[in-house]
Amino acid sequence: MNSDYLVVGAGAMGMAFTDTILNETDGTTIAIVDRHARPGGHWNDAYPFVRLHQPSAFYGVNSRKLGEDRIDEVGWNAGLFELASGSEVLAYYDHLMHRDFLPSGRVTYLPMSEYDPETGEVTSLTTGERSTPSATKVVNATYMNVSVPSQRPPVYEVADGVRCSPLNDLPNLAHPADGYVVVGAGKTGADACLWLLKNGVDPDNIRWVMPRDSWYLDRETIQPGKFFEKSTERFINQFRHVAESDSIADLFERLEADGILLRLTTDVEPTMFRCSTVTKAELEQLRRIPNVIRQGRVQRIDQSEIVLEEGSVPTTANTAHIDCTGDALSRRPAVPVFAGNQITLQTVRHCQQVFSAAFIAHCEAAYDTDDAKNHLCGVVPHPDRATDWIRTSYGNSRNSARWNEDADLQAWLASSRLDGFSSPDTPSRELMVVMMGALDHAEEALAKLETYVAELDAAGL
Ligand SMILES: Cc1cc2nc3c(=O)[nH]c(=O)nc-3n(C[C@H](O)[C@H](O)[C@H](O)COP(=O)(O)OP(=O)(O)OC[C@H]3O[C@@H](n4cnc5c(N)ncnc54)[C@H](O)[C@@H]3O)c2cc1C
Repeated sequence: MNSDYLVVGAGAMGMAFTDTILNETDGTTIAIVDRHARPGGHWNDAYPFVRLHQPSAFYGVNSRKLGEDRIDEVGWNAGLFELASGSEVLAYYDHLMHRDFLPSGRVTYLPMSEYDPETGEVTSLTTGERSTPSATKVVNATYMNVSVPSQRPPVYEVADGVRCSPLNDLPNLAHPADGYVVVGAGKTGADACLWLLKNGVDPDNIRWVMPRDSWYLDRETIQPGKFFEKSTERFINQFRHVAESDSIADLFERLEADGILLRLTTDVEPTMFRCSTVTKAELEQLRRIPNVIRQGRVQRIDQSEIVLEEGSVPTTANTAHIDCTGDALSRRPAVPVFAGNQITLQTVRHCQQVFSAAFIAHCEAAYDTDDAKNHLCGVVPHPDRATDWIRTSYGNSRNSARWNEDADLQAWLASSRLDGFSSPDTPSRELMVVMMGALDHAEEALAKLETYVAELDAAGL
């Protein structure tokens, strides 16, 4: 088996990379290896009620639309662009593979196959057959290391007889529990709480274990299409806030006051920022849960108590403990995206994995040297701490400044459906005025971000 590229991982990033290479190069061949039976990566293991956290309008791959660009009329996302369900995402990737990639005659797909990065060997998980595919370049589309709760047992001890399961099992509840304990404060934990509330559970019967409070992004501010101008205005305002702030604490106050960052309660200062995205209606629902346990991480669940790092709380054998502690996307060390015959897919715009994979593929197709490609593909690692908002904003700004110097790249961005923040349409006069205003702030904001990043480095944060 010989191909130009061997893509390891048929998840969202591997698929977005492959799609762009197929469409922007002539005759290039690609082999895709994945241990899953279907394309779509972690979406195969996600909970049955999972939905995208961002609009479908700019998720997936560049060449194929996802969803119908509908505005939701009901539910807690009403008024905003539709969010594909997990099964819609999986069907999308299945169609992409079987209706576009394979019929092109340029893609070889090896599902149920384990790739060994040390030896380059591929082992079929069904037959045990081994082969060593040869390729000019190997594309690592597994580096983001996504993990979801159903893929592994809980990270804490659970005594025999205690009801504890990943949130995947919630729709299979055979009988009501005494109460529900949601373990995990990320977006997955929030999704579990919202599912319970939507299914009629009294908020008093839900306890939410929250080792760290989070800053959330308001989904209303990341809407494309007819909301583009509003989203852009918000985006630009961030620069104004950075430029006008006089300390990191002051910056977060300004971002919150402008509704760019949201939190569960003003009583607690969030220490986490992982790009979790909610609507104001969802946040209102989450605020109905009065019992939030802030005593660190769970260490053990016994028949009658939950032992945490900083204390314990009672529980019962018939309480349903819902494990939502998967790390989803962890903060990985940044490595060069292009290094000889290795391409390591990472984010070049914060929290925009699929856009980043397509962008990297475009750079691979359009530029000659690794230096030129890496210059455009500065890695913006996934955030984790609250102050990572500053690091990712800085990384984004640095990349954007480089992209702005390249007219061809600007044209590519404007035509990319995965770029929810560009538009092929001419902005209105009002927006032009706001954008000109932002240019006034750009230099100042960038300098301020640099100062804050240096402060964080010095503090080891
Ligand atoms: C619940 C949830 C909701 C999300 N919603 C959004 C959203 O709205 N917008 C957004 O941008 N992002 C969202 N994300 C982030 C999302 O994870 C990324 O967009 C994207 O799916 C990351 O994909 P990936 O291709 O990097 O990783 P994965 O999906 O994990 O794909 C990697 C693939 O590599 C395979 N693999 C790994 N190692 C090997 C090996 N040695 N041999 C063979 N195969 C291997 C795995 O089987 C897997 O299929 C969400 C994440 C979660 C968990």
